[in-house]
Amino acid sequence: MTGSVTLVGGGPGPVELLTLAAVRALAAADVVLFDRLAPHDDLAELAPRAELIDVGKRPGHHAIGQESIQAIMVDRALAGADVVRLKGGDPFVFGRGGEEVLACRAAGVPVRVIPGVTSAVSVPASVGIPVTHRDVSRLFTVVSGHAPLSEEELRNLAGLRGTIVILMGVTNLPSITAGLVRHGLGADTPVAIIERGFARGQRTVVSTLSTVMWDAAAHGVAAPAVIVVGDVVGLAVAGDADAQAALDAASLSG
Ligand code: SAH
Repeated sequence: MTGSVTLVGGGPGPVELLTLAAVRALAAADVVLFDRLAPHDDLAELAPRAELIDVGKRPGHHAIGQESIQAIMVDRALAGADVVRLKGGDPFVFGRGGEEVLACRAAGVPVRVIPGVTSAVSVPASVGIPVTHRDVSRLFTVVSGHAPLSEEELRNLAGLRGTIVILMGVTNLPSITAGLVRHGLGADTPVAIIERGFARGQRTVVSTLSTVMWDAAAHGVAAPAVIVVGDVVGLAVAGDADAQAALDAASLSG
């Protein structure tokens, strides 16, 4: 009999931020395919019956390609296994979850999706930054910085005058920030870079659009990080002493 595939959003790291549905799916799984950013430290306990397959990228190791991941998922399900595909954050936020759902459907494998807590909202929240706030910002845009943004994208983003949340943006940060200023955002617009959210060594660098590329280089900022651009950064008063100190130094909090 054909098994199934369940795409599970694993949240931003801590086991406490898994949903109950995620915990139940893991407990029932025969096979778990997990990513580097998915919470995997406690998998042996959470999925005691399952074969655990690491398909994540690691520095110096070859990542298993997307096609191979989909092939393993589909093959195992067709052979009768209940497969959990555990992903970081929410499966449908830059997670290629949509492609995996289509691959299952194409193969006639039953597939469902369990949403997860996305890093785009939860990592800023972990340092007291609300992505929206009454009278400060009534919209937020989540954008991938993996590839450089086009002039039109930069112009439109700047024109919205709302919070901008950038994932996978460390490498392209200089061109993104310069582009936003070129298209009219104030050079003193606050920027926060939150590295390794919810993990040991979490760190927040607070700066402005015009200075952040120097500050990021000076601090050796590295992925994974969530970058927040907008006045909501100035609300980061609670919960993170580093952010507070940096805010005070940049005179953004008063
Ligand atoms: N589906 C995921 C995002 C996948 S893209 C989600 O909803 O969260 C991967 C990017 O997410 C990373 O490059 C980084 O920008 C961000 N990210 C994910 N987890 C993170 C964490 N714990 N701390 C900081 N950034 C994180």
